[in-house]
Amino acid sequence: DVQRDDSIQKARMQLPVFEEEHRIMEAIHHNDCVIICGETGSGKTTQVPQFLFESGYGSPDSDTPGMIGITQPRRVAAVAMAERVGQELGNYKNRVGHQIRFDASVGEETSVKFMTDGVLLREMMSDFLLTKYSALIIDEAHERNINTDILIGMLSRVLKLRRDWSCKDPAKYKPLKLIIMSATLRVSEFSENKNLFGSPPPIINVQTRQYPVSIHFNRRTAFNYNEEAFRKTCKIHSKLPRGGILIFLTGKGEINEMVRRLRKRYPLKKGKSYDDVAEVKVDSRYVDIEAEEVDFSVNEMVHDLSEEYSNEEDDEEEEGFDETLEEGQTAEDPLYVLPLYSLLPTKEQMKIFERPPNGARLCVVATNIAETSLTIPNIRYVVDCGRSKERSFNEDTGVQSYEIKWISKASADQRAGRAGRTGPGHCYRLFSSAVYESEFTQFSKPEILRMPAESVVLTMKSMGIDNIINFPFVTPPTRDLLRKAEKLLQHLGALDDRMIITKLGQKMSRFPLSPRFAKMLLVANQQGCLPYIIALVSGLSVGDPFVSEWEIISGGEDEENEWKNQQLSKFNNSRQLFTKLDKFSDGLQLLSAICAQDHIPRADREKFFESNFLRPKIMDEIVKLRKQLTYIVKVNLSKESIAVSPLVKEEELKLSLPTKVQVEAIKQMITAGFIDHVAVRADIVDKNVKIPNNAPITAIRYLTLMPTSDTDSDGFVYIHPNSVLSKCGEMPPSYLVYQSLTANSASTTKTLRMKPLTDIG
Ligand code: ADP
Ligand code: MG
Repeated sequence: DVQRDDSIQKARMQLPVFEEEHRIMEAIHHNDCVIICGETGSGKTTQVPQFLFESGYGSPDSDTPGMIGITQPRRVAAVAMAERVGQELGNYKNRVGHQIRFDASVGEETSVKFMTDGVLLREMMSDFLLTKYSALIIDEAHERNINTDILIGMLSRVLKLRRDWSCKDPAKYKPLKLIIMSATLRVSEFSENKNLFGSPPPIINVQTRQYPVSIHFNRRTAFNYNEEAFRKTCKIHSKLPRGGILIFLTGKGEINEMVRRLRKRYPLKKGKSYDDVAEVKVDSRYVDIEAEEVDFSVNEMVHDLSEEYSNEEDDEEEEGFDETLEEGQTAEDPLYVLPLYSLLPTKEQMKIFERPPNGARLCVVATNIAETSLTIPNIRYVVDCGRSKERSFNEDTGVQSYEIKWISKASADQRAGRAGRTGPGHCYRLFSSAVYESEFTQFSKPEILRMPAESVVLTMKSMGIDNIINFPFVTPPTRDLLRKAEKLLQHLGALDDRMIITKLGQKMSRFPLSPRFAKMLLVANQQGCLPYIIALVSGLSVGDPFVSEWEIISGGEDEENEWKNQQLSKFNNSRQLFTKLDKFSDGLQLLSAICAQDHIPRADREKFFESNFLRPKIMDEIVKLRKQLTYIVKVNLSKESIAVSPLVKEEELKLSLPTKVQVEAIKQMITAGFIDHVAVRADIVDKNVKIPNNAPITAIRYLTLMPTSDTDSDGFVYIHPNSVLSKCGEMPPSYLVYQSLTANSASTTKTLRMKPLTDIG
């Protein structure tokens, strides 16, 4: 007896899912798990919870009194969808609530609860059987987020248990229903996974009406995609018929800048204005940090800057501009520009669903959130930069970071699809079809395989999952990887000898960083070393800012020998400066360069980088990461619960060189994070190994204390020629801590080279 507004009921009836109500409820009635696939916008998220509600789920006096829970990978979606379903439920509005980590609107009367997947995972820690719920909907399963994946694994067990318990004690326990929803048809990883479900759950495909979308690739790939997105949007707005524009960018910073520029270029009519909005402050202790919120990144694509990239698109060759303005439109009409990203207040986010002011065209500048989580009405043009920010992991350096990367072909197609919901549309891709073919993978890799295994294991242990090896993963990492990860975490003190998480491990799991760096930061809180370790961890996370000698030797034309020699001597002088602090430690060389830069005024930095052979882009990113880490450390190490502004000023970072005592302490702190990466000079442990007098330092043999997995090398490891040690002019230290090993397979026998961080005395 739900009473809905007429307009709402009409809108619901238009949704493809609406026709499937009977089929869906029938399947749920007969099965404990059901999978629903349907295009974005088909009504899955807003309607399926209502179907359940109307057939008695979540009603105290029914057979299924437990709540209906719906999980979302993103906070924005959890809040927005709860709001919408509340509106749709009319007289039962108060039965819908949401819970995200720092904000909740649930109460006694709540029957339908939207939450982030992180919230449900934490609830499972205190109530594994999730007895509060009669049905759980795991939404956006196609995204393959780590939380969603872990949830599905755990829930596959809970289903069986709840079924068993309800047979034994039907008065007390009821079975649980699990509904997995996906925006793509690619669900075999769930449905045919024997680890998860004994017999494959039924799959319901919701048929959708999708209008054709013409895809227009740029002839050349826009390197500065922000600039190109601006240009393209102006062109669409000034030349093409009515219909909303949706621009995909990667994060808050870019989006705010784009919104500012577009609003300035196409202002609203006189008397209309935008309200100023404050940013949401987030206490990171209570929040799962989402990749798009982390405003730093190293753009890997910077390095393969080639002819292909250009910001100039030849006007005559530009595709997708055959139509013209309609009657009543002019090239200078106002554009109603709205941002959409996680840290925006909910009220602001919901504006995308309202009608734009009369005569103005809607333009939403969004992150990935608009790809499948939220459907913006009346979009006819999509402008896609082809990138997104994602958590990733560099296997060579072992460093976990948030990077701007190409999306997958599947994602690009999803984004294009946003233009075809209400009529035929256009999608403008700011990259060439050649780049799409060669650089875009078919599907994106599940997040669990993109993260270092030790982060995955630490996360799971912090959720109270002790037996990782036998966990029913959707896509399991290899057992070998998991075992190694457990060992590493044990070395770092995050797990005890029974592989149970320690207090330190719990603290480490809160940092959105690899456990090594988390450990370094946690031990650094003494002798005033914390800011140095923050700087160092930032430097190590972002990548190597030092231009190598080899790059100078091999760069330029052959005839320019004299110039090259000049450069080389400048290079050596500069490097000597950075090794003054410590001649044996690459880590301290990095720290010296970072400290030195702090004291150079902004305007002179570029020159400073150039004359010291430092990569400007990397150095800039290091500063950004330091700000971010300073903030994260502040909230994680502070005792009280405070909402700290994520804005850290550059002045706050300024560091003077560490004292002698601090240098020694810093070396120990580095070692704490890389305790399993120690190498000893071979002649120390084996008297048979002799070092010839004239041996180059890079040929001196070291042995790792823990065995390496590489079997086809000669069993030794060697100092990398880029290390400060290669030029230290004396016998290198007996014990070294290294960041990573790289195999040089250019010669016939494989040589393992270590990137040393510091000596240990
Ligand atoms: P799906 O989950 O299948 O992608 P949804 O249930 O999210 O689909 O969306 C169904 C429809 O409801 C879409 O057309 C969307 O634009 C509309 N919608 C969702 N939220 C709101 C809202 N707050 N106001 C108006 N329309 C909305
Ligand atoms: Mg949805």
